[in-house]
Formats: sequence, C-alpha cells, structure tokens
Amino acid sequence: MLVYKTFTPDETEALGGKLAELLAPGDIVCLSGDLGAGKTLFVQGVAAGLGADVNDVTSPTFTIMNVYAARIPVYHFDLYRLENAAALVDIGFEEYLGGDGVALIEWADKFPAALPAQYLDIRFTAGEGPTERIITMIPQGPRYLQMSEELKERADTGF
Ligand code: ADP
Ligand code: MG
Repeated sequence: MLVYKTFTPDETEALGGKLAELLAPGDIVCLSGDLGAGKTLFVQGVAAGLGADVNDVTSPTFTIMNVYAARIPVYHFDLYRLENAAALVDIGFEEYLGGDGVALIEWADKFPAALPAQYLDIRFTAGEGPTERIITMIPQGPRYLQMSEELKERADTGF
C-alpha cells in the first residue's frame, strides 16, 4: 500500500503523470472516492502523461466511457450513473480490459464483481484543508505490486 498526500489540484495531476510512466497496454486502474475527490483530475494527468490531448479529457459521467488516442489508447470509464452490472455488458466493458489500451475506471467499487483479479486500486479521500487529498494505492496482484514499488521510487517526495 502506498499513501500520498497532495495539496493542490496540480499535484494530483502530476502524480497521475508519474503513474503514466509505468503503464503498459492491458493495465487496469480503478479509482474510488466521493464526488470532487480528484479522480478525474488524476485521470487527466495519466492521459496527458501518455500523450493524449488533455482538452479531450472530461468526466464521462454522462457518456459512461471516453476513449483518448495516446501512445497507449486510454479507456476512461465513469460508472457513477450506471444502474446495474448488466449495463456493463451493453457498453462492452470487459472487452476493454486487459487489451491494447489502459483502462481507468472511476467508481469501479460500485461493481466489484465486474472487476478482474488484478488491478491497481486507488482511493481518494479529503485531507485536512479544502485542497488536501489523501491518495491511497492498493495493488491487487503481482503486476500492480511491482508497479507501486516502482512508483514509490519515482515519486517518493514531490511529484
Ligand atoms: P472526481 O472525479 O473525484 O469527482 P474531480 O477530479 O472532477 O473529482 O474534481 C476535483 C475537484 O477538487 C476539482 O475542482 C479540483 O480543482 C479540486 N481540488 C482541490 N484540491 C485538489 C487536490 N489536491 N487534488 C485534486 N483535486 C483538487
Ligand atoms: Mg470524476
């Protein structure tokens, strides 16, 4: 488990950029935490780090999924408004996981049964001030354990 604190929106985005350096096709990142916790901002940092046009990165709360062209395709999901797991089948959720792109899934914790065995679980919570966030990374499986160890070396202090 890896715990970060960020004190500005930019720092959260930069941490996403650091994670992007370590992502490879097929990787899956799940993001959970209240509305406004910083999940989408973090995804923006990841997508920008992979070379996507950040202006394209918006919360897919209404569209459920956005795709960004980048060095590795980015599949950005937001399951907040999804009513049930059956609707995941309709959007072809499973076909996007473990394939040619990186999947970033906001509100993945709503449908735990739909998740694969291995992924990076990232939890966002409010910190003490209005712009402090606590970002906890919990690797599920060896691939993500290795990834979080690498991230710790690269983004130990300051990002
Ligand atoms: P979510 O996707 O979790 O609902 P967003 O990333 O869309 O959250 O929004 C986060 C909001 O919180 C933004 O308005 C951002 O400016 C603000 N914010 C303040 N401090 C931080 C921080 N340290 N990290 C991320 N966002 C922050
Ligand atoms: Mg969001």
